[in-house]
Amino acid sequence: MVNSYYYNGNQYVPRDPNNGYMGYIAASLASGMILGAMPAFSKPFSKQLVKEHSQNHLYKDAFESSIKNSGLAAKGVNIVPAQLLGGMSDEACGLNAYYQPSTRKIVINTDKISIAGFHEAGHAMNDITGKFGKFLSKLRWPGRYAAGLLGTLALFARPKPKDAPRNGLDVVRDNAGKLAFACMLPTVFEEGMASYKGIKLAKASGLAKPLINNMKKLYAKALLTYIGHASLTGLAVGAAGIIMDKFTRPKKVETDDFLLFG
Ligand SMILES: [Zn+2]
Repeated sequence: MVNSYYYNGNQYVPRDPNNGYMGYIAASLASGMILGAMPAFSKPFSKQLVKEHSQNHLYKDAFESSIKNSGLAAKGVNIVPAQLLGGMSDEACGLNAYYQPSTRKIVINTDKISIAGFHEAGHAMNDITGKFGKFLSKLRWPGRYAAGLLGTLALFARPKPKDAPRNGLDVVRDNAGKLAFACMLPTVFEEGMASYKGIKLAKASGLAKPLINNMKKLYAKALLTYIGHASLTGLAVGAAGIIMDKFTRPKKVETDDFLLFG
């Protein structure tokens, strides 16, 4: 066997650098395909959100007054009607809302998706009154960056034989998929908490039960989006790692087989 070497009593063949390129391409394709399933998880949410445009009037007043009645307004939280900001297409303007912690603004199209406003108010409560919620929200962006970094790390070649001792970086790389999933979890929990608090606010605002139930459905679909995002990220990173392992890990030469059966 040309260029083979012994490690720990086993014979290994180093891999051709071309295997690394092929692995990189295969891993990128597999990750891309997995991440391509993302819209399937967010579709139920965006579909219902568009439907909500027609019954916005049922939620609008309750949402606006709940910001005052909950004490959030006194703490500096204010609603910025996204429809008045400009720079956004009419369609995009009715599909998204967000809370900005630095300015305590809830940016939302109050002419279309007031139903989503309670959830954003829940984010404001996490930020202002909830210690655990605030802690989780602070992990949101670092978590995303870390997951991205793990994805990059998973795409590196594996130069060590399988039974070689592992250092810290090897352990991280071997578990990159699981760790990437874990990095996304604080966001999933914070989103769930925001919805939970939002529903409580809506109940306190006196919204009728059928409206609350409809809201719960929408919020469950929103959470599904985040759960899907976290799971697919973990799977994509994990798949990249498995593929790179297959393409680049030095191959063990199974001499025992020859001894037994040869
Ligand atoms: Zn949210």
